[in-house]
Amino acid sequence: MSVEMAYFDNNATTSISENALEVYRRALAEDWHNPSSPYRSSARIRARMELDREELAKDLGLKKEEIIFTSGATEANNGVFAHFATQANAGLCCLVSPFEHPSILEPARYWFKDKIRYLPIDQEGRVVLENIENLLSENNICFVSLMAANNETGVLQPWKELAEICFSKGVFFHCDATQWIGKLPSDDFDLCSSFSVSAHKFSGPKGVGWFASKEPISMQLGGEQEMSKRGGTENYPAITSMLTAWKEVRFQLNSPGNRTEWRDQFEKSLINLIPAVKILGLNSPRLWNTSMFVLPDFENLSWVGKLDKLGFSVSTGSACSTGKAGHSGIAQSMGLSTSEVRRLIRVSSYWEHGESDWVNLLSAFEQVSKELHQEGAYSSVISF
Ligand code: PMP
Repeated sequence: MSVEMAYFDNNATTSISENALEVYRRALAEDWHNPSSPYRSSARIRARMELDREELAKDLGLKKEEIIFTSGATEANNGVFAHFATQANAGLCCLVSPFEHPSILEPARYWFKDKIRYLPIDQEGRVVLENIENLLSENNICFVSLMAANNETGVLQPWKELAEICFSKGVFFHCDATQWIGKLPSDDFDLCSSFSVSAHKFSGPKGVGWFASKEPISMQLGGEQEMSKRGGTENYPAITSMLTAWKEVRFQLNSPGNRTEWRDQFEKSLINLIPAVKILGLNSPRLWNTSMFVLPDFENLSWVGKLDKLGFSVSTGSACSTGKAGHSGIAQSMGLSTSEVRRLIRVSSYWEHGESDWVNLLSAFEQVSKELHQEGAYSSVISF
């Protein structure tokens, strides 16, 4: 598997690591038996899967029974909301940030309808916790959900503080940890009532993840798999491949080296090159790998197309919103105009990127900027 250094869209997905791929391949070929079947080859797979669960639980400071393997964060986020359907039907409210991923916002709208309340945010795209106790008690809140790190800007959210407040008030707190896990230390997630993760954000395979919960929450009705909390034959090859990727990344989490500085230097140089560029969440703590900005000229797709031709993959925002003009959860929450949303670019690196990759990315922006201005790409200049 080749790692493209010019791939700067790792918040959308990462490439699978060589070891995770090898383990996946081998398990698909050799460990394909149904883990619930009653003979030795199946029992072996079941035992290995339980060892994987145990190791993961130990790393996260959880009990083994608190982890359910799922198809990823979307399933987990949907499942946890569905669990609160009775409370929603009884007229209780949920509290979420306005920039949650659609896999949180859509089930919130579906189950809670007009009983959704939104956490206030500041200009940097970070949730503000002032007055939160009042917000919780005055609104009859039964369920709070806040992402750990925003998928678009990378801004880190005060999820630990909110988890503690919710705990003290006896309110269930769910955290969508999808963008945090694999990039930053994961020691404190035991503060949350539950959290969700997808393996493909940390060089594991797609279509697998976990839901960790202190309460016995059912994700999916069906067979008795996953302690009867998620029916469906477990995808052991994907699970064991995910654990391989996890074991590779977990040791790096406490030592990001100079990665934040490389990203910051890229942003400084970009501002020098294009002074009118507006970097979102610039003054807020952010994931070390992410930069999202509004460029002053030309539609983002003009930039993306030309950068692509130079071999650089960057995105116009969250992959889950691509194709929906003007749809960027964070941009809308932060009050960006439609014109600004059409000039948004997100770049996101991963562990394998070095300083020189950021420098090369900057050079590519420089070249594309020249090309776009020389061509006078007037058709794609946004009118203000
Ligand atoms: N939450 C966040 C913050 C995400 O970035 C994503 C993936 N873009 C998801 C949830 C959903 O993950 P998946 O598509 O793997 O279910």
